[in-house]
Amino acid sequence: MNGLKLTIRNNKEKTIVQVGPYAIGKDFVIIAGPCSVENEKQTLETARIVQAAGANLLRGGAFKPRTSPYSFQGLGLKALKILQKAKKETGLPIVSEVLDPRDVGWMGDYVDVFQIGARNMQNFSLLKEVGKTKHPVILKRGMHSTLQEWLWCAEYILNEGNPNVILCERGIRTFERYCRNTLDITAVPAIKEISHLPVIVDPSHASGRASLISSLSLAAVAAGADGLLIEVHYHPEEALCDREQALSPQQFSELTPKIKLLRNFMEGIL
Ligand code: PEP
Ligand code: MN
Repeated sequence: MNGLKLTIRNNKEKTIVQVGPYAIGKDFVIIAGPCSVENEKQTLETARIVQAAGANLLRGGAFKPRTSPYSFQGLGLKALKILQKAKKETGLPIVSEVLDPRDVGWMGDYVDVFQIGARNMQNFSLLKEVGKTKHPVILKRGMHSTLQEWLWCAEYILNEGNPNVILCERGIRTFERYCRNTLDITAVPAIKEISHLPVIVDPSHASGRASLISSLSLAAVAAGADGLLIEVHYHPEEALCDREQALSPQQFSELTPKIKLLRNFMEGIL
């Protein structure tokens, strides 16, 4: 890949990103939770459910990058305080999206991992700002970005001195309309071939359909992903955001043992 300097494998050791007790890149992690923090009850109950089912980290949006300005935009600081409460109770480290470079400084006190969303993959000032911290960053792939463009964005973060980048494949736009996006499963082994960075998969935004999450999660495990990011809501039918793709508590708790079983099997044959 032309022009890449900091993300390419060469003879570098694989990057391991430590989040709480988890060494991401070595330990397989399941990140789960609602698309958005809607209220305390919804987030705390969902946190308890995903933890009981075997999730390792809790996700929840406080600032939502909505396509329509009239859609729910997230609860901001109030949401981050709710996430902190959920962490205090469950111990699950928190992943939440940062939308604005001006929020990076103070938001670091509330989240363990910054998420940079697909729509902001090439927000270079945001990339530089999270690059100045030592916080782990999940960098989602832009929905119309090549692997090279994605890795360049990771280099913006690395170049500022933050090595803790986790890439997340979340589906790209293709001519196919049945699903919200098309999961580019090839990105997983391809990134591993090119780069030393860990790569996880988000089957929720990739498909937009709860019925497909289980198959895509298992495909990601088989392809060698280092983790999964899955949207779960305690009552999907009530979700304010991304309702169609949210797994119910039962669907999620049926899926996690399958993920763990397949991951163990894959470790045995790789
Ligand atoms: C999300 O994780 O809720 C999200 C908005 O994801 P993406 O940036 O991949 O669309
Ligand atoms: Mn979402």
